[in-house]
Amino acid sequence: MSATTWCIALQGLEGARVEVEAATTMNLPRTIFVGLPDAALNEAKERVKHGVKAAGRKWPDGVVTVNLSPGSVHKHGTHFDLAIAVAAMSVDERNEVARPLLADTVLFGELGLDGRVRPVRGIIPLLLAASRHGFERAVVPAAQLAEAELVPGITVWGVAHLHEVLEVLAGRPVLHSVPQAQPDEAAPASPDLSDVRGNEEARFALEVAAAGRHHLFLHGPPGVGKTMLASRLPSILPPLAPSEAIEVSAIHSLAGERLDGGLITRPPFQDPHHTASRQSLVGGGGGGEIRPGAVSLAHRGVLFLDEGPEFGQKTLESLRVPLENGYVSIGRAMQQVRFPARFQLVLAANPCPCGSHGVAGKECSCPPFRVRQYQDRLSGPILDRVDIMLQMPAVTRFMEVDGPVPESSAVVLSRVLEARERQARRLAETPWTTNNEVPGSYLRSELPLPDASPINRALALGKLTSRGVDKVLRVAWTLADLAGKEAVGSTELMAAMRLRLGDAARAA
Ligand SMILES: [Zn+2]
Repeated sequence: MSATTWCIALQGLEGARVEVEAATTMNLPRTIFVGLPDAALNEAKERVKHGVKAAGRKWPDGVVTVNLSPGSVHKHGTHFDLAIAVAAMSVDERNEVARPLLADTVLFGELGLDGRVRPVRGIIPLLLAASRHGFERAVVPAAQLAEAELVPGITVWGVAHLHEVLEVLAGRPVLHSVPQAQPDEAAPASPDLSDVRGNEEARFALEVAAAGRHHLFLHGPPGVGKTMLASRLPSILPPLAPSEAIEVSAIHSLAGERLDGGLITRPPFQDPHHTASRQSLVGGGGGGEIRPGAVSLAHRGVLFLDEGPEFGQKTLESLRVPLENGYVSIGRAMQQVRFPARFQLVLAANPCPCGSHGVAGKECSCPPFRVRQYQDRLSGPILDRVDIMLQMPAVTRFMEVDGPVPESSAVVLSRVLEARERQARRLAETPWTTNNEVPGSYLRSELPLPDASPINRALALGKLTSRGVDKVLRVAWTLADLAGKEAVGSTELMAAMRLRLGDAARAA
């Protein structure tokens, strides 16, 4: 006797189809698992056997061999329990398992010793992979039904207990009420730009960064509002397109987040602390399971690194590949996993470790070599990617609290959306959609060049490096897009150079 069920093994966001075959031969009773890693094997065996008995069903007599194939595919996670349990029950006729639906249904769920079906990690990428492999039906933990129903193209049935799975297979689906997703109430309201008063230059730099998707460097003493500003960037970024929302939600699902409020439709914001491990930043994990890190959780959103120099050289270096390619590869001897990581970087730094260097009215207590060392940590490959460097002044007076309330995020977002449309139209025939992606060669050969005299003056004065010229051009195009202009003029060039004053400040 043998029986087959289906499951999915995840490698990153990709999933391989796994056939779970159970067979019995008459001999002394024992259970053999083939095709699961050793560590997971014993735990799964115990959970499944207890679960089957708790559901009032028979564990087959004799030798039960459960084979998960192909053997070459790495299988991790507890979500195989359900497929294993149903395959094992099916080989014993006393269990009267209805088999017709098994051939094109995937089964996902962890079993408790009492037969309860528990939630699993990554239900969204599991279902997406199942759908790609042609499965039209899936059985999922009832507690995850709301999330599971977000995945298009596959019918899902929720089950809370192993005996309910058998009801579903017999054509008597058990109804579980799905709590209505209420994204607006469930998600914490993202902070609004109208909270940022008085600092017009910083607000404008943030708007330009949002419009052209430029990476941004905020430089200034502690307490000038760098975090306040950065955390408001997502509120002026365009909402995610439906396919992006699915992709971003899949990554967060894989990290173990519950998405009861519905798909993630706003650009995410990640702000790892500088003491965070390299693994939590770029991804990794123990026990064979590789999880996405902050760079991937920030995919299609914002990665904010406050006190950038404190992150350490090695950690900052690890951002180079995702900044360049939009993904990270995490490798082990046997397994290579790739996660998307196309984030917008906001980097913030104090002028020195104590925060007072160069601040009027304050005295820096750092030795000069420490100040230089601190500032040098951000140089090189990371800052090369940053188009806008904003020097934020120390707060020298109280903001005019009684003044007019500044523009809200919604008002700024409407301008950002228009500017994005202009870019998309201009770049329609290219592989790029936003100004930050456009390489210098294209800027100089394909787009109309402005009168370059302001740039030449800045080059001659040493205020701009030749590498900086491309960045100025990119930002100038974004300024033209925001102003609704068809070409870059000297106004845009001058303003773009001001948004690179960080360079001059560092050189001084
Ligand atoms: Zn200092």
